[in-house]
Amino acid sequence: MAKHIQAIRGMHDVLPGVAPAWRRLEERLCALSRAYGYEEMRMPLVEKTELFVRTIGEVTDIVEKEMYTFEDLGGDSLSLRPEGTASCVRACLEHGLLHNQTQRLWYLGPMFRHERPQKGRYRQFHQWGVEAYGFAGPDIDAELILMSARLWRLLGIDGLKLQLNTLGTPVARAAYREALVTHLEAHRDQLDADSLRRLESNPLRVLDSKNPALQEVIAAAPSLMNYLDEESATHFAELRALLDDAGVAYELNPRLVRGLDYYGKTVFEWQTDRLGAQATVLAGGRYDRLIEQLGGAPTPAIGFALGVERVLALLGEDEDGTRDAPHVYLIVAGAAAEREGRRLAEALRDELPGLRLCQHCGGGSFKAQFRRADRSGATAAIILGDDELAQGRVSVKFLREERAQADVPRAELARFLANILLDGGLAPA
Ligand code: ATP
Ligand code: MG
Repeated sequence: MAKHIQAIRGMHDVLPGVAPAWRRLEERLCALSRAYGYEEMRMPLVEKTELFVRTIGEVTDIVEKEMYTFEDLGGDSLSLRPEGTASCVRACLEHGLLHNQTQRLWYLGPMFRHERPQKGRYRQFHQWGVEAYGFAGPDIDAELILMSARLWRLLGIDGLKLQLNTLGTPVARAAYREALVTHLEAHRDQLDADSLRRLESNPLRVLDSKNPALQEVIAAAPSLMNYLDEESATHFAELRALLDDAGVAYELNPRLVRGLDYYGKTVFEWQTDRLGAQATVLAGGRYDRLIEQLGGAPTPAIGFALGVERVLALLGEDEDGTRDAPHVYLIVAGAAAEREGRRLAEALRDELPGLRLCQHCGGGSFKAQFRRADRSGATAAIILGDDELAQGRVSVKFLREERAQADVPRAELARFLANILLDGGLAPA
């Protein structure tokens, strides 16, 4: 037998047993965004490669080795998006959304990075991204952090820790950069090839290294906190006061630099100790210079992104669960009943909005149809045979509990179903 074509490594199908959990989470993320006055954006999955090189930074893991880049038939270099911020800013500039106005935006969708696949790390993964434009003060930083804290409460996820840092302004970072280079130069012999390269091009990136052999040198590095200029020190102090006021606990982590170049001032991550090396479930920060760098007017900006797969794993909902079973399965025996069954099914869907009704297709004996009804996971089967047809009624058989079969006149069927499916939240139209 020919071997089936397999999906690409690190890119996963979401099967019917898991898809309902995805939809539940997506609906909650949508509702939470709207609860804070954020509006949805949808951007293309493919952009010009240059967009990501110019925003994320040439000397980052993403641009150096994780992007799916290809030449299209017109000879343009395109890339599958590795994250959403660059596209979101590009779209806002293109459509004039940042001109004399503030924006609060969110999006949800797949991102692509050519990483080594493992639990919580995939080549196609999904992010919920939230971005705010035109707000310079720490109040919006606090708003985004409060929104994420609310999400963990809504989902009942506890044990997450908020890590907080500030990267200061470009001037502060330049002063810090010198001190850091001096420190790293002194420990040159302990650095790996990546870090040696970054020592020249982008030394702050070295702090972001995941190589265990480097952690000692990183821990001993000077702290950016000691190099802050007044503007970013004040911004950070005010943010901390707002978080304290809201009762949101955090840990200061002076080594938190984030894997993208465009960040400045506030950066934060929510981390778990339950997903091994894939510890960060939500990460974000301020990127006040990015919009100007892309040709827009200087516009303060901040955002975060959440890893959907990692959150589903924390919820324990990333493996086979409850399928989206129909409420009722309609069994029809005989040509006349089949025709009437089609009319009945359509009428019931009108009468009971939200009803999940699956009508048997493909014929077969009563017994075969019952087997299908049972496997569908439906709560009840509605039976329409010749007798029922002649008498203007149906039989309702309960598939999940010991309960006598009911004889229900057609005119009362919608009310009867609404009653037995009360848990499903159905009410007659
Ligand atoms: P990591 O340090 O785990 O590689 P990152 O700093 O590259 O994360 P971001 O670019 O900040 O991640 O993306 C935000 C969030 O998206 C991450 O915190 C994580 O939850 C999720 N994420 C990032 N890369 C992946 C991936 N390859 N697979 C699944 N989720 C991911
Ligand atoms: Mg990464």
